[in-house]
Amino acid sequence: MAKRTILTEPNKLLRIISKPVDQVGKEEQKLMDDMLETMYHANGIGLAAIQIGVPKRIIVMDISKEEGKKEPKYFVNPVIKNKDQLNNTYEEGCLSVPNQFAEIDRPSKCEVEYLDYFGKKKVLKADGLLATCIQHEMDHLEGILFIDYLSKLKKSMIVKKLSKLKSNTTVL
Ligand code: ZN
Repeated sequence: MAKRTILTEPNKLLRIISKPVDQVGKEEQKLMDDMLETMYHANGIGLAAIQIGVPKRIIVMDISKEEGKKEPKYFVNPVIKNKDQLNNTYEEGCLSVPNQFAEIDRPSKCEVEYLDYFGKKKVLKADGLLATCIQHEMDHLEGILFIDYLSKLKKSMIVKKLSKLKSNTTVL
């Protein structure tokens, strides 16, 4: 496994619509391994491939809270089948929008069809944090960030802050 660099907003790559994967092979599994390591290292609970610059419809997640108890989940070509009418509000953050958080409304439950790490077709019924997280990650596949749901003013303040941070960082 290898840790990769996480792209942060503003970055045009984060706005790309990711492409479906033809089949889950060695290359895709290696990518998922790298994504998981990168996510754990950054203390994240979800990561989409485009966040490390790969425009493929692949997501890794682990929302287990207990220390030392890893429960990685892999989603290839995920599609949301059913969304609940009821919304849930969570304070969301994103590894590509560092240190920024905001309350976002999303359907409280959803059903997701996807291929797993071995390319097997699966269906997951998600609610709570899992439902929020999968919808947040799936937005990345469409080039959408959680800050896009905020008011124009709030969003532009965050993007400005992040741009400033970037220009102050020396790239080695
Ligand atoms: Zn994110």
